[in-house]
Amino acid sequence: MSHSFHLFQLQKIDTQLDQGTARILEIQAKIDGDQRVPEAETKVAESLANLKAAQARLAKIEQEVTSKRMKLEQSESTLYGGKVKIPKELQDLQHEVASLKRIITGLEDQQLEAMMQVEEAQMGYDAAQKHLLRVQGVTTGENAVLMGESGMLAALKARLQVEREAVVNQVDPVYLEEYARLRKNKRGVAVATLTDDTCSACGSLLTAADRQNARSPIQVSHCPSCGRFLYGG
Ligand SMILES: [Zn+2]
Repeated sequence: MSHSFHLFQLQKIDTQLDQGTARILEIQAKIDGDQRVPEAETKVAESLANLKAAQARLAKIEQEVTSKRMKLEQSESTLYGGKVKIPKELQDLQHEVASLKRIITGLEDQQLEAMMQVEEAQMGYDAAQKHLLRVQGVTTGENAVLMGESGMLAALKARLQVEREAVVNQVDPVYLEEYARLRKNKRGVAVATLTDDTCSACGSLLTAADRQNARSPIQVSHCPSCGRFLYGG
């Protein structure tokens, strides 16, 4: 087999290896960059903080109501206990009882509102948790498919490396060196083929002599335009 043919084989293998590596990196970036679970987790944390704040507001109002009711109980028992005889003091007590009752009514309205807010916050938190579970399920499934693909590509790359070694052993080191240089400078493509009388890599029209050289089983030819190895098949 000619050096040209082996270089062409080497190029095919390296192109596949490059594609495999690129896809593995793409998969990793896709998995790493997936924001769906972190976003859902943030929503859970936010709605939990919201719920806790609403619960704290409610607890504060409830404490206030309890304290005012105790105060009312005391004032009423003093008022109706019969120990206070002075009219002015009795009048003051009556005013205090009336005032406490008004305050308690106001607080009870606030309490009802706060309870509704807690209920709403609880619903928001439940929904956020459900959403997180759903997103986790979807993401896990999708990632498993991607990881499966990545694993298959890694296995394919390992097989290609073995094939590559076998091909490399059959190519003159001088050509290998040039091949490596061309790969580096020509965006990974060191070997072009004949496609409708043109170079498959740069598109230049090739003369009859160029094409004949490219098809020669003995010599290694180059595209006169882009300098890549030219394999005519
Ligand atoms: Zn060319």
